[in-house]
Formats: sequence, structure tokens, C-alpha cells
Amino acid sequence: MNKSLTERLFEECPLIYRTNSDGTQTIVNRREFECGDGWFDTIYQLSTKIESIAKVMQQNGTPISGLPQVRQVKEKFGGLRFYMNRSTEEIEELIQQASLQASITCECCGEAGYKQATSSGWIMVVCDNCAREY
Ligand SMILES: [Zn+2]
Repeated sequence: MNKSLTERLFEECPLIYRTNSDGTQTIVNRREFECGDGWFDTIYQLSTKIESIAKVMQQNGTPISGLPQVRQVKEKFGGLRFYMNRSTEEIEELIQQASLQASITCECCGEAGYKQATSSGWIMVVCDNCAREY
């Protein structure tokens, strides 16, 4: 995912995209969502929803180290993978919904897509135009 979209996610969801005081590496240190720009909207919506949940937890007294944190976001076998350090049933359900959304969204351009082989042989969720291009 490109740099400005990546930074936007980090800026708008500072609780779930936070660095660790003990120096362990997070997605924020790596500054990398390992997928295409087309999935930005899906990841953004998911992130802001989990951020809201984290905010409520913080207001209710959960220490920062106990709040949900995103470990890694990537594409694998054509699907969106969204890994957290800890989760809840509510968060798992949101991740499920986002994965479903990603499975019908072109990873390259964000238009409607489906899982197919691209011209270079990758299996990805893409639209027909992007499948020819990649
Ligand atoms: Zn496309």
C-alpha cells in the first residue's frame, strides 16, 4: 500500500496502530500494509471501528498495554489477513466482514473484483482490467 494511505491509517487510528514501549516491532515500525491500495477503504473502515472499540476500553480503564493492537495486515492466497495481538468476539466479527468485503474488491484499484489468475500468474482478487495489467 502506498505511503500516504499507510500514514493516514496510522494517524487516524493511533491506539491500534501504536508502537511498543518495550521496543518490540509492530506494523507501525515496519510502516507496511502488505497488500494493494485497492483494499484501503476496507482496511480503513475496519481500523476505525476497532479504534472506536479500543477508545471505549481505554475510557473504561483498560491500560494502553491491554488495548487491541494490529500486528500485521497482508494479502495471502488472495485473501485479506488482519492479525491482532488480542481480540474480542466483536472484533473478530468485524475482521470477518472486512475479509468478505476484500474478497470481492479489486486489490489494485478498489473496483468490484473476484479471485482469479493475473497475466503474470498471481492468484489475486482483481477486476478484469487489473488482471490483464498485473
Ligand atoms: Zn482493478
